[in-house]
Amino acid sequence: PLRLHGVDPVRLATFLAAEQQAYRRAHPHSAELASRASEHWHGGVPLHWMSDWGLPFPLFLKEASGSCLTCVDGHEHADFCLGDTGAMFGHAPEPVRRAVAHQIARGATAMLPSLLVPEVGRLLAERFALPVWQATLTASDANRAVIRWARALTGRSDILIFNGAYHGAVDDVHVRLADGAPIQRPGLVGQVYDMRAHTRVVEFNDLAALEAALADGGVALVLAEPVMTNIGMVLPDEGYHAALRRLTRAAGTLLAIDETHTLSAGPGGYARAHALEPDFLVVGKAIGGGVPAAVYGVTAAVSQGMARVRAEAPGYSGIGTTLSANALAMAAMRAMFEEVMTADAYRHMIATASDLAGRLRAIIAERRLPWCVTAAGARVEFMLAPEPPRTGGAAARIGSAEIEGALRLALINRGVVVTPFHNMLLAAPTTGPEAVDRLCAGLEDALDAIVAP
Ligand code: PMP
Repeated sequence: PLRLHGVDPVRLATFLAAEQQAYRRAHPHSAELASRASEHWHGGVPLHWMSDWGLPFPLFLKEASGSCLTCVDGHEHADFCLGDTGAMFGHAPEPVRRAVAHQIARGATAMLPSLLVPEVGRLLAERFALPVWQATLTASDANRAVIRWARALTGRSDILIFNGAYHGAVDDVHVRLADGAPIQRPGLVGQVYDMRAHTRVVEFNDLAALEAALADGGVALVLAEPVMTNIGMVLPDEGYHAALRRLTRAAGTLLAIDETHTLSAGPGGYARAHALEPDFLVVGKAIGGGVPAAVYGVTAAVSQGMARVRAEAPGYSGIGTTLSANALAMAAMRAMFEEVMTADAYRHMIATASDLAGRLRAIIAERRLPWCVTAAGARVEFMLAPEPPRTGGAAARIGSAEIEGALRLALINRGVVVTPFHNMLLAAPTTGPEAVDRLCAGLEDALDAIVAP
């Protein structure tokens, strides 16, 4: 049955058609580039996801700076997507521009540690409270590495993830629950291995299921976002993380916290803000200020274990890629940690996001929509359900691609970019009150056109 979520389907269809037409009219240059790009790029885009925004054709980027994104047709957009966290601290931060210009003139990648390596290691340890680090290019790479190390360290083959989790292009993680049974995530291209053989999956916030899944001592690693952020947002119950840590320790299972998105919670991420005690911590996306960079931190005990594993089985580890830990990434990270991801920047981001969350709640309440708003620091999400879901399974059952797609398109037509695939909004250090005003006004305008009278 069609889920209406307080929206009138006839008004929605009329509105969507009008917005598509408005988009086409306003973006002739994007249309032309889309047509030319389709000659030599599969699906007309260099990464096939780029055509999944629900737009008549992709919006082509001219340039982006701070929280402002300008498309090739010259429209300036307030950017709340911020590269789906890749640019969470604003586009093209000046300290990163400086650091990158300096480093690129001195060589970007050489398979050697650069002179900034000791300093960046110190900054990571100080910020995230784990003593030992490794670098990769992407958070996906970091999660893959962590899974491999955990298996090697424990001698166990299985990992455990939470239903609805996303940790990047990591094969082991593409398992979910359907009616309580694990299935391979539908849609995977060319996947010939059955991930269910070594991946267990339970619902977030379900301690009994977690305890049962760990009971046989076969799980090497629990890989978790501290707040689920890729299926709308699912917050942990009070005391959930303490219990997760207690149960993993009791089962001899290592715990990896994936902070890639929850870095929005504070300068040291959610784990630091809530004194979690992970064995591994993964951080990626935003820490290079746009330069590809990710890292994973480990405890002293894990680091010693890693050394033992390598001593016992030297040779090619299967972990790492050629450009990982390159000099350019180190320069970008140092600039980010020292000059961009500051306590002041976080104060502004979190205050802006909390103001935004309050205004969204008021917009929803005024129209009596059965929707809710969740937040994790600088990250805000509106969800088409009356109450925030407590599990990924519940989160997967709500929402509406039609309504959310129409709102995303309508917002772009009103000079606001929000994240595709879900309704996530990020506040950067550069997000000003006029951007929040524009977002709220655009959303109200769109809602007034589609809400059931
Ligand atoms: N972990 C989490 C929690 C993520 O949300 C993502 C990407 N959305 C990743 C890891 C992977 O990041 P990347 O695509 O940069 O490898």
